[in-house]
Amino acid sequence: MNYEGQGRIAKVMNCVVTDGTGMRVSVYVSGCQFHCPGCFNASIWSFNNGTLYTEQQLENILALIDKPYISGLSILGGEPLQNLAVIRPLITTFRQRFGTTKDIWVWSGYMKEYIEHTPELSFILNNIDVLVDGPFVQSLYKPDLKFRGSINQRIHYLSHI
Ligand code: SF4
Repeated sequence: MNYEGQGRIAKVMNCVVTDGTGMRVSVYVSGCQFHCPGCFNASIWSFNNGTLYTEQQLENILALIDKPYISGLSILGGEPLQNLAVIRPLITTFRQRFGTTKDIWVWSGYMKEYIEHTPELSFILNNIDVLVDGPFVQSLYKPDLKFRGSINQRIHYLSHI
């Protein structure tokens, strides 16, 4: 399995209030191999979507986050854990800049148990605050779930935020 991806970002959204708690900056990475039927973000399944992630783009994202009214960073997709080339430097630099004064939420189609037992991925659990895990399952869809699409998906609070 290639967890690195093609290093591309589909979109960055500022001042988002639906992707976690508080007002946030949301980064949507390009590419997901899960292809869950009914996925809301099927338009960015392709790893060739969007723009190439650069150090300048990283700085632009951090500048958006570096505002007193921004609570943190949300990373969605696409599949963040099939895009380590993007999210590894993003998370590492975020922590160097902001420490634990702001938080990181990640949405992944992988279950937390899989992430824990995959050496390439497990670092993520020590460096983010909230993981929303599991694939979207259309038959388990509920419209009023907070931060999730289907009831099989779980919210793991990994730190005391
Ligand atoms: S894992 Fe997420 S982005 Fe990928 S197909 Fe499933 S719902 Fe869509």
